[in-house]
Amino acid sequence: TNKAIATIGRTKEILEKYGFSFKKSLGQNFLIDVNILKKIITYAGIDQHTGAIEIGPGMGALTEQLAIHADKVVAFEIDQRLLPILQETLAAYPHVEVINQDILQAEVNQVIKEQFRENQEIKIVANLPYYITTPILMKLLMDRLPVTSITVMIQKEVADRMAATPSTKSYGSLSIAVQYYTYAKVAMTVPKTVFMPQPNVDSSILHLQLRKEPPVYLENETYFFDFVQASFAQRRKTLRNNLARFFNNQFSKDEIESVFIACEIDGTRRGESLTMEEFATLANQFYRKRN
Ligand code: SAM
Repeated sequence: TNKAIATIGRTKEILEKYGFSFKKSLGQNFLIDVNILKKIITYAGIDQHTGAIEIGPGMGALTEQLAIHADKVVAFEIDQRLLPILQETLAAYPHVEVINQDILQAEVNQVIKEQFRENQEIKIVANLPYYITTPILMKLLMDRLPVTSITVMIQKEVADRMAATPSTKSYGSLSIAVQYYTYAKVAMTVPKTVFMPQPNVDSSILHLQLRKEPPVYLENETYFFDFVQASFAQRRKTLRNNLARFFNNQFSKDEIESVFIACEIDGTRRGESLTMEEFATLANQFYRKRN
């Protein structure tokens, strides 16, 4: 049997054979550590029934491990230069489908219908390109895909922000956006040395378990997310001051104060101290008061 793709030796061999050069602009940092890959598979909870979706298979380091453990793998890769490489490295796995597409443009719901069995449990697993981590994850969440979890290697700081709890340094509108859709947990931190080439930042494995029901009732989701973002516009300012700009003279000072009082939330608090429930209460109340 062959050596795993995720080794320095095999990776260098493939680079040479195909004259492949990494594109920094595509976030190409390939994994060269099989142990890390096995941990990702374990955190993701992949078994022989799982349908797996991967974003950015690269040379197939993670794809190979997914292929070994899952029922079927569908991988989206934007870089056409990698297609002949993947054809060779994954030749032993006919249940792997590589789609040459930008994940941000992909109709993932449609692909799922075409590629997986009805009612198959589907999980997303990826070592994401760092330059578009947040857009990719937000797209996957907002597309409301029939997947049960997303397990991804991303920049450590971004993972911390996505999983952060109130009144911590990392907590912000991104924490609330991600946690509205999922239970978010940083599974482990990973050193730069497991990548080729090494990135400038440390990484973490982030595990997102999708919620079956939204955690809070929202009158209007778009309004809520805009409201939350405005509440964090200037971190050192009070909620009252940040929101004044958002309301843009729509309400008088007294009207704003009466909503804070009705919601039993002190307007002199900072956004970073509010829970998602408190944000929902406030945003819903202001939303009803518009017009
Ligand atoms: N999975 C491989 C590994 O772990 O060794 C490669 C991971 S590398 C961090 C990110 C991969 O995503 C690259 O192969 C890159 O070409 C691909 N990629 C970048 N932008 C993409 C996009 N918008 N859609 C799909 N794939 C993308």
